[in-house]
Amino acid sequence: MSEQNLLNMSDLVSLCKRRGFIFQSSEIYGGLGSCWDYGPLGIELKNNIKNSWWRSMTYREDVEGVDASILMHPTTWKASGHIDNFSDPLVDCKACKSRFRADQIDLKAACPNCAEKDSFTEPREFNLMFQTFMGPVQDSASVVYLRPETAQGIFVNFLNVQSTMRKKLPFGIAQIGKAFRNEITPGNFIFRTREFEQMEMQYFVKPGTQKESMESWKEIRYNWHLNNGLRAEKLRFHPHGEGELAHYADAALDIEYEFPIGWGEMEGIHSRTDFDLKQHQEFSGKNLHYVDQLDGNNKYLPYVIETSVGCDRSLLAILCDAYRLENKGQEDERVVMKFKPSLAPIKVAVLPLVKKEKLDTPAKKLLADLQQDYKCEYDVAGSIGKRYRRQDEIGTPFCITFDFDSLEDNAVTIRDRDSMKQERISLDKVKEYLKQKI
Ligand code: ATP
Repeated sequence: MSEQNLLNMSDLVSLCKRRGFIFQSSEIYGGLGSCWDYGPLGIELKNNIKNSWWRSMTYREDVEGVDASILMHPTTWKASGHIDNFSDPLVDCKACKSRFRADQIDLKAACPNCAEKDSFTEPREFNLMFQTFMGPVQDSASVVYLRPETAQGIFVNFLNVQSTMRKKLPFGIAQIGKAFRNEITPGNFIFRTREFEQMEMQYFVKPGTQKESMESWKEIRYNWHLNNGLRAEKLRFHPHGEGELAHYADAALDIEYEFPIGWGEMEGIHSRTDFDLKQHQEFSGKNLHYVDQLDGNNKYLPYVIETSVGCDRSLLAILCDAYRLENKGQEDERVVMKFKPSLAPIKVAVLPLVKKEKLDTPAKKLLADLQQDYKCEYDVAGSIGKRYRRQDEIGTPFCITFDFDSLEDNAVTIRDRDSMKQERISLDKVKEYLKQKI
């Protein structure tokens, strides 16, 4: 058997559209640049990824979850440095009016869009935050921002969570939510968009212990990606050098994945010192000190290790990694999405061999039973071979065929997506079989 990985993003984009994973936003109006809608299978996959993250990050003694509001007091963004620093250098081509990030092109070369020479304006700083207005009056006093990261909703709730949950250091606060950035050059499908979801955790530690905490989170986070089924040879760490460090960090590294477009950041792990709490303390005038009862009631601002992973980027990596083209050009060619079963959008397809009431009624009964635990599909249309191919392409790990023998022997055939091997399993053992495998 021959096997080929995903080589072009366009193959994935078309599969995602054809099979109901991801559609262009507002498609009937011609689409909206770099905005995407998750379809029925996409949202299942996304929810499974979020659940996997939420379970691994918050089902532990030292981490609690929150869900903060997207709109925050505007001073938050003054304190965090986003109003003054969250910008990219922008240049325009005077000839074709295209815009580029100055740090992503050669300013001495011709315009990559229209090939005009010496056509770029001087770089100027372009703030990436989306602004809007709160209330009916559009004056500068009512300006609010769509949050460009979820982290600040955690920092401003540090004491609320610490005191209500009676937390002792070290402890973390986790959150999943939307973030917005008016990116100059979005693209590559859902890799860089202007509206996306982040899964972030801030871990508050005693100053001086941040290095060991960072080491431990680095391992935990790498293993989470491995556990989602990503291949180790497509994952690597990229530590930030001095020049790359953000203004708030004393150390940082990225977890990168090798996408078909090359290596790209999936997750950032940052040692943010006490920068954020200190800033919020200063701008709010509220005392945010932690009282360390285990250290003679010593009062201090904790240091922070942040883990920040893009939900959509992680989903893109999982899609790219799962994609396999088997036996290309041959009669038995097939595309299979080899998702880890627990992440697969559809876990089980129930397929009566032919469309006959005699099979339909008991097969539907099996479906109803399995649906209590799993997202299932029921398909009677077309040949069984075609139905298998469709399930392979959406990554369904198990297909259950209900045939005429099933009426006699109370057993069904379960086909494994990856090996395509078929097993005859008695109906009363099906649930146990699936539970073990999923
Ligand atoms: P990049 O260098 O790619 O712009 P960043 O270093 O600004 O990313 P962070 O601010 O550390 O990214 O955000 C954490 C994570 O959020 C990233 O690792 C990425 O997975 C995700 N992310 C950031 N910007 C976007 C975006 N425009 N679209 C989709 N995901 C994003």
